[in-house]
Amino acid sequence: MKIRLAGPLQSDSIVDGEGLRTVIWTQGCSHNCFGCHNPQTHDFNGGFEMDINELKCQIKNLKYQDGITLSGGDPFFQIPACLEIAKYCHTLGLNIWCYTGYTFEQLMTISKSNPLVIDFLKQIDVLIDGRFILAEKSLNVKFRGSKNQRLIDVKKSLEKGEACSITKYDTIDISNVFSKKREVYI
Ligand code: SF4
Repeated sequence: MKIRLAGPLQSDSIVDGEGLRTVIWTQGCSHNCFGCHNPQTHDFNGGFEMDINELKCQIKNLKYQDGITLSGGDPFFQIPACLEIAKYCHTLGLNIWCYTGYTFEQLMTISKSNPLVIDFLKQIDVLIDGRFILAEKSLNVKFRGSKNQRLIDVKKSLEKGEACSITKYDTIDISNVFSKKREVYI
């Protein structure tokens, strides 16, 4: 099976989820959010293809990573390949965060005609959902671009049948940063 990627694996990220993470940049997205930071990832024929066994090898050789983040693009346009990768990552003890332009509720609706959506969601620990909305852009919400996007505890949400947000990252406290700076320069 092949996966279409927008770029090579990016390790040691601290901005794409909790801990030290490696990002898989999937290629292909049709959400067309105005102000999207990664427009080069939209073309479904762009980027390059990689056999998922090759990708698995690269993941197996990673060091000191807490988890894998599926981003893009939108990983939900390549569910079979992303599902297989997510399952493999869990066998290695790596947690899975995934970005999507769909809301959790939209994915529930889509899952009625495509049960693989649920299979994939079951392999995701945290889902960052919803399109990027420029008018709601904020630097104060961690791991997201705009305030409408939610961090969703997928396991809990599937059990309850409704989106359960993780709120501990809702605001970034930058007061420490400024007080530390003062300590250095005063
Ligand atoms: S879902 Fe993400 S990649 Fe797709 S257009 Fe929106 S911001 Fe860009």
